[in-house]
Amino acid sequence: MAIFKCEKCGATKEGRCKPKKCPQCSETGCMVKDESQSSGCGCACKSKK
Ligand SMILES: [Zn+2]
Repeated sequence: MAIFKCEKCGATKEGRCKPKKCPQCSETGCMVKDESQSSGCGCACKSKK
């Protein structure tokens, strides 16, 4: 699972794939993966950009 965050209003949504639109403000294309809130192992072992 990953956390996706709306760049516009800051709403967060948990899911396996990127939401097409924000559940709160309904803006499309604003959802970005929020690595800092990821529910993964938390050891920063994920590949960096
Ligand atoms: Zn939003």
